[in-house]
Amino acid sequence: MFSPAKIIGLLAILWIVWMLFKFLERRQNLPRDSQDTPNESAGADAGQQAVDVVECSSCHKFVSKGGCKDKNCPLRS
Ligand SMILES: [Zn+2]
Repeated sequence: MFSPAKIIGLLAILWIVWMLFKFLERRQNLPRDSQDTPNESAGADAGQQAVDVVECSSCHKFVSKGGCKDKNCPLRS
């Protein structure tokens, strides 16, 4: 039979091991987070791509500025 004191002692050991595991996991993740933060610069590129998209005057589809890619578009030679 387990006495309440033994159960509390067992839970205390489990809690200490769990806190130690979380502490070591946090120490391993911290250097990765600091490296990933400066690389987040994809928002500027998405804004430039939106400017190059124009509406085709013939088929009224939003296409890239280079030319309409629709096969049925009359503007496409
Ligand atoms: Zn078109």
